[in-house]
Amino acid sequence: MATTEEILGPGGPLSRALSAYESRSGQLEMARAVERVLREERILFCEAGTGTGKTLAYLVPALLSGKKVVVSTATRALQEQIFQRDLPLIERALGLSFPVALMKGLSNYVCKRRLAEFRQSPEAMRPKYARTLDALSSFVEESETGDFAELAGMAEDDPVRPEVASSSDTRIGAPCQFFDECFVTQMRREAERARLVVVNHHLFFADLALRGPHPGRVLPDYDAVVFDEAHQLEDIATEFFGMRISRRRLDRMLADAERALRAAGALDPLFGGDAGLRSVSAVEVSADVFFHSLGEAAGKDHRITLERDIFTGGVASAWHALDSALEGLAAATESARGRLSAPSLRGPRPASSLPEALELAARRSEDARSALSQVVEGGAGRVTYLERAGQNVTLASSPVDLSTLFRERIFETVPAVVLTSATLSTAGSRSSEPQEDGEGEPERSRSPSSAFSYFRARYGVADSRVDVTELVVPSPFDFEQNALLYTPRDLPAPNHPSFGERAALRVAELCEITGGGAFVLTTSHRMLQHLSRSLPAKLPGKRLLVQGSRPKAALLQAFRADGHAVLIATQSFWEGVDVPGHALRLVVLEKIPFSVPTDPVMVARGRELEAAGESPFMKLAVPAAAIALKQGFGRLIRTQRDVGIVALLDERVHRRGYGKLILSALPGAKRTESLDDVRAFWRDVSERLPGEW
Ligand code: SF4
Repeated sequence: MATTEEILGPGGPLSRALSAYESRSGQLEMARAVERVLREERILFCEAGTGTGKTLAYLVPALLSGKKVVVSTATRALQEQIFQRDLPLIERALGLSFPVALMKGLSNYVCKRRLAEFRQSPEAMRPKYARTLDALSSFVEESETGDFAELAGMAEDDPVRPEVASSSDTRIGAPCQFFDECFVTQMRREAERARLVVVNHHLFFADLALRGPHPGRVLPDYDAVVFDEAHQLEDIATEFFGMRISRRRLDRMLADAERALRAAGALDPLFGGDAGLRSVSAVEVSADVFFHSLGEAAGKDHRITLERDIFTGGVASAWHALDSALEGLAAATESARGRLSAPSLRGPRPASSLPEALELAARRSEDARSALSQVVEGGAGRVTYLERAGQNVTLASSPVDLSTLFRERIFETVPAVVLTSATLSTAGSRSSEPQEDGEGEPERSRSPSSAFSYFRARYGVADSRVDVTELVVPSPFDFEQNALLYTPRDLPAPNHPSFGERAALRVAELCEITGGGAFVLTTSHRMLQHLSRSLPAKLPGKRLLVQGSRPKAALLQAFRADGHAVLIATQSFWEGVDVPGHALRLVVLEKIPFSVPTDPVMVARGRELEAAGESPFMKLAVPAAAIALKQGFGRLIRTQRDVGIVALLDERVHRRGYGKLILSALPGAKRTESLDDVRAFWRDVSERLPGEW
């Protein structure tokens, strides 16, 4: 079989299969590093700038390695791109077929048992569910995967979906009557057989969390893992190694328990179904009281740290009441299960997983009790907080420092680990050229270079116990020629009362220069709302699209189709959004994206650094903001032909000591502080390039 070098290199099978394929030296360099790390069972940190073709650079050596490799991405979009586009492309080019599998989180798959139970429930009789349920029934008959993404016409937030989706909370496993034909079972069997399994970080950490104290697991065993979009690992791991109990999770648990109890009551009128149903209502009422009293005591913030003394007085009584209501529900469902299995009721009855569903309801009530008491009791090295999102309230407890967990459970356990992202170093391509020794090998480092020190510290490999290979592959795009970074000095500081209006005026001036085609990315909903009120009058005739007014995919489609629109958005558009070409030619970044200073997890991490004598601002806030800013900048130039302007309206980059550091992380575009230079640059571009490129 051909080598990685031959496959990706000039004249290789990929370039023969794809007319637009270009062999890139950065891609080859990365592929060689991945190949070596997989072979020698090492660790690689690799920043690969936009356009290096990093997915092929790890997929090809992973497929050729002969090892079982898990590829984990942060987003479902990248997961699907790898599975549906990149892997088939390699297979076509090589004329070979590799055993590969795609595993999404369980909630992406229909659970046949839950669907059957939901169909028999009184709610299912509501006319508003009829169409969805019919579509779902035909879907489970025809689909090979049971993945909701294949069910066109069912919105992600369809109310039926959480009632019929699989989840680790609701999966029965082998005793389930649908086990053998179950979509999740089939997905796992395929993953067992596959050489390369594409997962996402959520599933990866869900598996890792299960492998801890219990003998369970979600993923098959593997020899190596490649994390793409690796800059997001810590945030996602924090969620999975934390404990969360939400109003919504309790409601779903209650709906399932009620369904199972009603079905049991119908089978066994002597069971006294009313008592079971009363226990469901008791949990409902006490959960209302608990979350209400907690919310009152905590205050109105969206995410707020809870100190230990909040769980006293009225909140403590509400917690005890909820705990005993959950205990009552566990007992009621358990007794219903016992009654169903009683000899008097044995005999022919429809095939059903009802006893298992009741047992599951009892287990979920006990799990909720235990999660609740663990959160309330807290513990060293954890932070407890309350989170509000719409109608949902979540009580959570998260580990503050995950570095030991990363080191022990990943870097010291998995033989070969590759971390890659377009933003993994806090230095830019200007200051961090690929480091090579005499034989063309990337630098193998026992102590982190400044470029990777932030993530190496966060991921527990900052010390000398672990060998790490570091590589920065710069983007092949010509930023110097094609991009201009505009950082005005004449705007007020972002916290000045006049900033919002002055920033809106500057956005309008910039949009006039480029004729729209702009992303205006804010760091808060307040600024998003201000701009969406203020900009229409300043940009008459321009199509303004605002995040939240319709789904993200629909907004992006409208933006691309218009070609001259202005899209105002916040966090979720700073990364993972790809609009190549003329439609996006201006990216305005309202300010340096520092994380919210009151965010409970960040505050707790800051306190830990302070206690260790470090500056939380320089060690945490600045590098995290540099990475986020680099992501925002990265929206602009997506292909060799893209041209445009990035404007950062935050004058602190000039005035504050950290400004230089933050700017040095960005790609090497031309820089200016003058709006006249921006006009001149755009005039030049317009003369140099034909029409809409
Ligand atoms: S095995 Fe689990 S996921 Fe599959 S149908 Fe049964 S309960 Fe649902």
